Amino acid sequence: MRRTSIIAILGSAALIPLLILAPACGKGSRDAAAPPAAGVKAPEAPPAAAARHEADPRPVLGVKIYEASPPFDGLFRLWRELSINTLFVSEALLANGDFRAQARTNGLALFLIYPVFQGPEALKADPGLAAITASGEPARDEWVEFVCPTKGDEFLEHRIEHLRSLVAEGRPDVVSLDFIRYFVFWEKVAPDRAPKSLPQTCFCPLCMRLFQNEFGVEIPADLAGTAGKAKWILEAHADEWAEWKCLRIARTVERLSAAARQADPGVKVNLHLVPWRKGDFGGAVRSVAGQDAALLAPLADYLSPMAYHHMVRQTPAWVHDVVEDLSAQAGGVPVLPSIQVVEAYITEPLAAAEFEAALEQALRPPSKGVVLWSWDALSKSPEKQAVWKRLVH
Ligand SMILES: [Zn+2]
Repeated sequence: MRRTSIIAILGSAALIPLLILAPACGKGSRDAAAPPAAGVKAPEAPPAAAARHEADPRPVLGVKIYEASPPFDGLFRLWRELSINTLFVSEALLANGDFRAQARTNGLALFLIYPVFQGPEALKADPGLAAITASGEPARDEWVEFVCPTKGDEFLEHRIEHLRSLVAEGRPDVVSLDFIRYFVFWEKVAPDRAPKSLPQTCFCPLCMRLFQNEFGVEIPADLAGTAGKAKWILEAHADEWAEWKCLRIARTVERLSAAARQADPGVKVNLHLVPWRKGDFGGAVRSVAGQDAALLAPLADYLSPMAYHHMVRQTPAWVHDVVEDLSAQAGGVPVLPSIQVVEAYITEPLAAAEFEAALEQALRPPSKGVVLWSWDALSKSPEKQAVWKRLVH
């Protein structure tokens, strides 16, 4: 009903690309339920590895790894011992031919982690690209610095072209879009956080103009300044504002996915999602982050909530709650929870027993696997490696 009403409101070309592209990109045309097919199209992949993965019913057992130094033999031997079958890697690692070849030889799927709107370097070069908060300030919270999703279109075009070239050269099995959302430092949002204290963006003049045009909204002429206009939008048109944000993110997913698939029609798409259930913080996953699971699922092959329970002061059982909530909205698209291995942002240690409990929860159906953040943390803990072996073997 919500989307129907938006189509009626828009009555324009604004939503058309989304509706046209969705079936072509969706699970109907792709085998979304299958595990990642490592090496299917990579020339260096042995046919046996490809065949093994196509038929492999095992869950995704993945780790996020951002950097590694050659030689890689020891790493791959360890991953074999740990039954790890999927690597979420940085652009730098994907670019390493030796690393890639060993992943293929060992039958490991490669997900390229690709940040979208987090852009500290771009913002250093051009601070004018920053997303703008409801008080009129650039959207920045410690290391989290976001580019405006519309004003930064040139930046986004550059990111899209760059992704196209990375897929053409590195041939990842999956592009894993990260920071594909609006600004919020969710890692520090505890359960008792007041929804209204969460940041709202982007109130730059271009975003406000496009929002008004697309939704037939008119900000009263007597309102001057960003803060007054933002307050009025959030009070008078909160639902439309949330819908506008979710559509911007969905359109961006479409553009990035289309470019990746131009480079390789077989490449799949995963989305990193803020780990908020639909009703958490008054629906902030849509209204603050701009991530609407029902809208995004048809555009993706996997959805991966960053269910880092310890940093957001939740229990291990919450990991399963997040997976269930997301699966209920995902229309059959596989949900791959990512969990944290070690404490971050808060000082209380994440004990091995608590890691074990979270891992158990992450592997419960309807989850299609688990992704550890990060390999670096697991590699430093023999105790947690033992937990992992016990639960995944
Ligand atoms: Zn903006």
